[in-house]
Amino acid sequence: MAMTYPDQESRSAALYRRASEVLAGGSTRHTTFYSPYPVYAVSGRGSRVVDADGVERVDCLNNYMTLIHGHAHPEVVEAIVDQVRRGSCFAMPTEREIELAELISERVESVETMRFCNSGSESVLIAIKAARAHTGRSMVAKCEGAYHGCYDPVEVSLSASPESWGDPDEPAKVPYTVGLPERVMEDVVVLPFNEIEASRRLLERHAGRLAAIVVDPVPTRVGCVPMRKEYAEMLREVATRHGIVLIFDEVASFRVRYRGAQTMVGVTPDLTTFGKVIGGGLPVGAVGGRRDIMSVFDASKGKPKAAHGGTFNANPATMAAGAAAMRLLTGDAVDAINARGDRARERIDAAFEAAGVAGQAIGVGSLVMVHFNRRTLRNYRDVCPDANESRRIATLHRALLNRGFILGAGGLAAISTANTDQEIDDLADAIEDSLREMRLNDPGG
Ligand SMILES: *Cc1c(COP(=O)(O)O)cnc(C)c1O
Repeated sequence: MAMTYPDQESRSAALYRRASEVLAGGSTRHTTFYSPYPVYAVSGRGSRVVDADGVERVDCLNNYMTLIHGHAHPEVVEAIVDQVRRGSCFAMPTEREIELAELISERVESVETMRFCNSGSESVLIAIKAARAHTGRSMVAKCEGAYHGCYDPVEVSLSASPESWGDPDEPAKVPYTVGLPERVMEDVVVLPFNEIEASRRLLERHAGRLAAIVVDPVPTRVGCVPMRKEYAEMLREVATRHGIVLIFDEVASFRVRYRGAQTMVGVTPDLTTFGKVIGGGLPVGAVGGRRDIMSVFDASKGKPKAAHGGTFNANPATMAAGAAAMRLLTGDAVDAINARGDRARERIDAAFEAAGVAGQAIGVGSLVMVHFNRRTLRNYRDVCPDANESRRIATLHRALLNRGFILGAGGLAAISTANTDQEIDDLADAIEDSLREMRLNDPGG
């Protein structure tokens, strides 16, 4: 059983060579690729994943915040199998989509009506379409560094760096993809996250052209720094005054509170996007919110202002899996994983301290992010790792793979209801051990 990564003799390495013949870059997803090759999964159950070489690891990432109950939860599997036996998709709606919509709208007060799609990226795209159709405006404001999926306007400044990001009060618009049309950039305003006065000025300047403000209350690419309550209040006030649609992207952050991250900041958005946990492990996205805005999709009285189709929208297999997962995610379950998140942050901080390495774990609830610095982290520029910090996080990721733990390659942990307190303590011990090893190999660090 090969336990060292990397090992060019391993089955994962062989699979990657084979993949490189037929998949562009040998992969189909950036976040699951790392050099020199990614570890391939074969099976997962609860908190454990077995890889192509038979190595079992504790999964602290859970498909990047998706598997809120770990792998192959029996009730979720049963719901999927039961549905797929009856058919996996139809050119007809099913009762399943009503059930999941009821489960979500009962929890999230701001969701009056909603619609389903197949990914978080799509949910953001559809929410922006709704905002444009509702307001008749085209511009979108988003925060520097924040991730909202692969739609062009919200990718702007996703990877801004000190060389490109410009004035802190008026962040430069940095294209993420080569060839991004200039026109797309013209319709985007980049806000400095959590900076109230600077953001307010930018919003006021473009208010007459803004269709939407898109913001994530716990942006993972901004290091899981929580949105300040006062920042959310400012966004709400400006949006209301100028008729701008305030969109909370809760694709990831919905999990941090039973009724969504919006209850953490105490601000009601006009629209909310969902994904990840609401699909029970199958592909999903959804947008919900104010009935009058969502009515842009209403085709019952003729051609709607905005079209919204999709061959697999609300497919009953996803809806059944999502409903099973949501029923299991009670208020107590949310409290339990959030407590485990607190435990992880505390223990990981202690591990850094004990190993004598500068670092910290921050985040909200069950979302935990490891940083190789002791800075006060408020916005993207505070969080953005320098070359040394980036190198250390990559080294830690690899060291943990070799100690039987899966963490995001950028330092993210997303705790599921299947992760135990013991696993959290073992993770912290493995981090301490890894840090000591890193210090030995890199005394300057
Ligand atoms: C993951 C994520 C998305 C994109 O969702 P996909 O299903 O991967 O397309 C969008 N926004 C946020 C905040 C996310 O975490």
